[in-house]
Amino acid sequence: MEKRLRLAPSPTGLLHIGTARTALFNWLYAKKTNGKFLIRIEDTDSVRSKSIYKNNILEGLNWLGLDWDEEIIEQSKRISIHKNNIQKLLETGAAYRCFVSESEILELREKQKIRNLPPKHDNRHRNLSKNEIKEFISQGRSSVIRFKIDEGSEIKWEDQIRGEIKWQGKDLGGDLVLSRRALGYEIGDPLYNLAVVVDDNFMNITNVVRGEDHISNTAKQILIYKALGFKLPVFSHTPLILNSEGKKLSKRDSVTSIDEFKEMGYLPEALANYMAFLGWSTKDPESEILSLAEISKVFNLSDVNKAGAKFNWEKLNWINAQYIKKMELTKLCKFIKNYWKNMGWKSPSKEWDLKLTNLIQDSMILLTDAIDQSKPFFSLSIMQIEGEEFLENNCDTKESLKLILHYLKEENISKVNNDKAREIINKISKTHSIKKGIVMKSLRVAFFGCLSGPDLIQSWELFSENKTDITLIKRCLN
Ligand code: GLU
Repeated sequence: MEKRLRLAPSPTGLLHIGTARTALFNWLYAKKTNGKFLIRIEDTDSVRSKSIYKNNILEGLNWLGLDWDEEIIEQSKRISIHKNNIQKLLETGAAYRCFVSESEILELREKQKIRNLPPKHDNRHRNLSKNEIKEFISQGRSSVIRFKIDEGSEIKWEDQIRGEIKWQGKDLGGDLVLSRRALGYEIGDPLYNLAVVVDDNFMNITNVVRGEDHISNTAKQILIYKALGFKLPVFSHTPLILNSEGKKLSKRDSVTSIDEFKEMGYLPEALANYMAFLGWSTKDPESEILSLAEISKVFNLSDVNKAGAKFNWEKLNWINAQYIKKMELTKLCKFIKNYWKNMGWKSPSKEWDLKLTNLIQDSMILLTDAIDQSKPFFSLSIMQIEGEEFLENNCDTKESLKLILHYLKEENISKVNNDKAREIINKISKTHSIKKGIVMKSLRVAFFGCLSGPDLIQSWELFSENKTDITLIKRCLN
């Protein structure tokens, strides 16, 4: 039978790394089994649901390379169907009207707190007579619909990731609220646990893969599936993503939304590749740099770990750098030029752009590194103490720069390409018996204001084409 998986995000915030990783595992398993990956937007909370969040979630999934099959289902359009199912549960006696007010619930909670008991509903309206219901309604009391949970029941399922999971009915917090409050004989808006079961059944979902924080919901949902006579899907609960202290990754850990990763300069392929290894590993990984298509061939839910997955920035950075290194030059150049544009930097030619991209490609970890690394080629770098001290404390430093200027003038050289750069450095070193290292380091200080930076010869060619090399050398001689 075809496997059908889904992501069911609530559009109440930006696409979060946890949701993206859940999406990825669903997508990978659908691809692996030649099945379908679907999306359902759980937008029944009309106050918190926003279309900007829905768009952000869908765009984020697209950006990561996760496509979906079939039309997107919007849960809010199915409210009347959810209500029909609640009605069915009322009719079969699996659910009932509960008129207990908010203040009565608070009172119950207070009593439980005093006795150090966890919150649990006492099901006091489970067996109201028709007349009692009538009486409450005539008093103008609102009601929710509660689903009966048998205290003595044991709910068991075979989780694809965790193996057998058992849950006791008595630990589910009492009879479950299926709908919000409503007056009269109305049924209020359906809540998550009911809507999710009705919709997963409607969409013929065969495998529900979601975070481990949903385990107790699964126990409740299994009871609803049974009461409605629906076929149960196979459940899998993925491990949470943890920060370096072993706590659930949250906003405090500086980034959690996919947008933020994008802004920081991570490539979608790299982030997706890294996320796949967050909680999953192949039995025999040939390499850790794998495309989603490659991962989908070897992915299996049974290989996902049970323990929480620690977020490792170093590993993500390493993977990102690998993707940048192997990226086609023109593609990388496009990304980089966007940053230049935002900085208001103008370059002399398209060839120059490619040369500079090539020069910094191997030392970039994030795409945003292109800003700092290309900055010296657009604006005069600041002379640092390290650079100043080198020029002051070593023999022949300024002398070699003077000789370079003199040589350029004498020979009437307006453009220094790589060969010319090497030739000039060699010539000055030989003719004037100055160590080649001194000539090169002096030039480096002139160009970058310090002793580090990219390849000097290639840099000179770029500075020369940009017509800034002479200015940079001269600034050291004033
Ligand atoms: N809307 C729920 C959430 O975002 C869906 C959970 C589920 O996959 O059932 O957590």
